Amino acid sequence: MSKFFTSQEKKSIVAAITRAELKTSGEIRVHIETYCPSSSLDRAVFVFNQLKMYKTKDRNSVLIYLATDSKKFAVLGDVGINTVVPECFWESVRETMQQFFADGRFVEGICAAVEEIGSKLAQYFPYRKDDMDELPNDISFGE
Ligand code: CA
Ligand code: CA
Repeated sequence: MSKFFTSQEKKSIVAAITRAELKTSGEIRVHIETYCPSSSLDRAVFVFNQLKMYKTKDRNSVLIYLATDSKKFAVLGDVGINTVVPECFWESVRETMQQFFADGRFVEGICAAVEEIGSKLAQYFPYRKDDMDELPNDISFGE
């Protein structure tokens, strides 16, 4: 699955995450796989736990999940985020992704979503001088 993107495309996604994390103490990860065996949200929860994304001090990580062949995706935030943001917080991010993904523009869709998440998280979890990169910015690939 790691061959789904060219190395240039991978670099632009990692760069988008790095840029977004300069706005917020929150952490963003991207997981890509071919098939999604369940609902996209159930699968995102599973992957979130597998990647130990709960290991942030403020529980403020966000997973962007995409299954390319199943045409399913999800955006999942940890409890620290979901206790403070309105329920519709992720809606526009999902819409942004939907628009790009419908055209098969996965890289642009992911980068746009990462940027939007960074800006949104910044309102609730601003970047701090003592920020640590708590979760790696590189893409996680499934089967
Ligand atoms: Ca950080
Ligand atoms: Ca990070």
